[in-house]
Amino acid sequence: MTSPAPSSVPGRAALRADCSSCFGLCCVALPFAASADFAVDKEAGRPCGNLRGDFSCGIHSRLRESGYPGCTVYDCFGAGQRTAQVTFGGRDWRSAPETARDMFAVFPVMRQLHELLWYVEEALELPAARPVHAELRRARADVDRRARADAAAVAATDVPAVRAEVNTVLRRVGDLVRAAAPEPGPDHRGADLVGARLRGADLRGASLRGALLVAADLRGADLRWADLIGADLRGADLSGADLTGAVFLTQAQLNAARGDAATRIPPALDRPAHW
Ligand code: SF4
Repeated sequence: MTSPAPSSVPGRAALRADCSSCFGLCCVALPFAASADFAVDKEAGRPCGNLRGDFSCGIHSRLRESGYPGCTVYDCFGAGQRTAQVTFGGRDWRSAPETARDMFAVFPVMRQLHELLWYVEEALELPAARPVHAELRRARADVDRRARADAAAVAATDVPAVRAEVNTVLRRVGDLVRAAAPEPGPDHRGADLVGARLRGADLRGASLRGALLVAADLRGADLRWADLIGADLRGADLSGADLTGAVFLTQAQLNAARGDAATRIPPALDRPAHW
């Protein structure tokens, strides 16, 4: 990593998607395959048939019933508006088609950089992570510098290397948060917990880093102080679960799970509309 530079990222607010400032990049640049998540196949770089001329979605209010629940789960962490308005200076791929190829190459990389920034910003808000705040600030400056580069440099970013570097400090943050739990939590990092029956489980301080929790029954589980980075929560039932104080939980993870009015979620996240 390089020495810290002033960050242009003012906290997590700037890492929330602002579709009105984007050119529908997730609806064009990314591919998807006909499945339970998407009604049709679409290759990368081709606009979705539901994308309107003004870059809004023609079926936004009925995505789930129209066979596109995958679109309600996706979160770009604000990468769309940065790519559109900063990297490409507000020129859109329709009126300036010569930008399309580069823009569609930059967007997925920017999305990964912004996801890392989200985790780092979250960690910087955590009192338990104070011992590593200096490292976190260096990581933020490094990732932000990469995200502010020109299109060619962003597209050429070695994302796995950047991710590995940032993950080193994020792992320490997770351990510091977990150490604050009243009892040591279980270590389920990378565990296959698909469909696991964890109703009412005491998962306070658990490491669930990268755990497969697809369709797991987590109703009423206590997940405070748990590290949930990269956990696959698709279809997991979080009804009545307590996620306050869990770290590295994202909106996309929540959107992919099930839950109800009794699910307690961290204040920085929104209760999914379909719960
Ligand atoms: S269905 Fe709507 S949100 Fe999903 S890719 Fe198409 S235009 Fe975008």
